[in-house]
Amino acid sequence: MPALEWRLYEAGYCTHPERATKAGGSLRACEFPALVSVLRHPGHGIVLFDTGYSRHFFHATERFPERLYRMVTPVRLHDGAALSLQLEHDGIPASAVAWVVVSHLHGDHVGGLADFPYSKIALSHEAWKDMQSRSRVGALSMGLLPGLLDAHAQARLQWFEDRPAVALSGPFERFGSGYDLFGDRSLLLIALPGHAAGHYGLLFEDASGPVFLIADASWSSQAIRDFIPPPALVTSWLGDTRSYRDTLAKLNALGKEAPEVRIVPSHCREWRPARSRTDA
Ligand SMILES: [Zn+2]
Repeated sequence: MPALEWRLYEAGYCTHPERATKAGGSLRACEFPALVSVLRHPGHGIVLFDTGYSRHFFHATERFPERLYRMVTPVRLHDGAALSLQLEHDGIPASAVAWVVVSHLHGDHVGGLADFPYSKIALSHEAWKDMQSRSRVGALSMGLLPGLLDAHAQARLQWFEDRPAVALSGPFERFGSGYDLFGDRSLLLIALPGHAAGHYGLLFEDASGPVFLIADASWSSQAIRDFIPPPALVTSWLGDTRSYRDTLAKLNALGKEAPEVRIVPSHCREWRPARSRTDA
């Protein structure tokens, strides 16, 4: 299993009342960064895990009914904070991005897809089928903006489920099996059900050991440590409360059994990006 280089970026953030993500939390609006992982694979080049927000998100939510998304979840993206601009600043042009791995289809994860027009897009077929089955308003009510995956993006889709299935071992055995993106065990796609249809995490190793990117399986690292699921109202609206809690319990157990694994949620301020949005 080759070790990868890994850097975190923040591509915009949104604000929610804390209570939407944590039962018993306050009604005060809290900032939730849209974190993106940028990986360098020795053979396959640059691989992104999600994309955060970009101008395409604002375009997709310009008109009603999609504008409701922005009204319910106010989004901030400072000048230069789009991932493609930060990567360009760091010497990685969009043309160098070979793959974008998409954890799930919520707007804050696919908002920048159109900025990486040369990449392949890896996604679960389950997530895609679910979005395709919904009406425009039905998709919107689930946080999905199909306009962010235009025909050009659709032509680049590759399904997780077509990749070799591998049995997970050691502390990851509790997650069953995963899909091996490149067939070299460097990037394992692991289903983390509950938050949204076809929601996946990504497991890999960098020079310091294992990293498990878990997207929205938990809003924060503290919620994993203390087993604090969001209110059932929120999890049952977007996904499935029972499987969300089951996934969170497995992550909690993983953290206790294997503290060396860095378990990284997509919206947690405990994880510091390579550059903060204010540097951009
Ligand atoms: Zn989500």
